[in-house]
Amino acid sequence: MPLPLAHAALGLAAHELSGENPPIHSPWRKLALIGLLANLPDIDVVIGLLLQGDGSVYHRGPTHGLLFALGMGWLASRLCRWWSRTASVSFIWCASIILSHILADALFTSAPVSFLWPFEVHWSREHCGWLDVIDSVLLGSWSDMGLIFGAGLVILFSRVLRLRVLPYLHPRPVRLTSRSGLDSKKPGP
Ligand SMILES: [Zn+2]
Repeated sequence: MPLPLAHAALGLAAHELSGENPPIHSPWRKLALIGLLANLPDIDVVIGLLLQGDGSVYHRGPTHGLLFALGMGWLASRLCRWWSRTASVSFIWCASIILSHILADALFTSAPVSFLWPFEVHWSREHCGWLDVIDSVLLGSWSDMGLIFGAGLVILFSRVLRLRVLPYLHPRPVRLTSRSGLDSKKPGP
């Protein structure tokens, strides 16, 4: 399965393709937010470890579905707006990055995801304890080098060719720069 580093790289590629650049001034904060959103579906591993000592118990269930990506995308955009009014991020941007995780799991692994949950549910069957998770996160990222390299290529081509998958979903804000234009519509004294 793709591990956190690969999911973060694919999330970065999704951010690039989305055509949206959220007004977050610190690049590290932006990277952290992308990494967090791109790995959010695997919170089911943490929940499984904490509750059952087995990260696979709830893995690839509801958190690996379209509904989760949309719901958490909306929630994340609201939280960002609440956290900082100047660093607002759109629902589409958040949902796209979460969705990149689910699509990567579906495309690059043999185990299915519950994409249409609650209409379909697929649970991971392999036992996965604390040591398995720590071991794969620390040492297994080497197996994802191909995905990380691929995400880098997508970012490169996107910048060179100015590819934007969802530009029409991000309408340009209307700027009211001229006060005189507004004033001219007022009736005279
Ligand atoms: Zn996953």
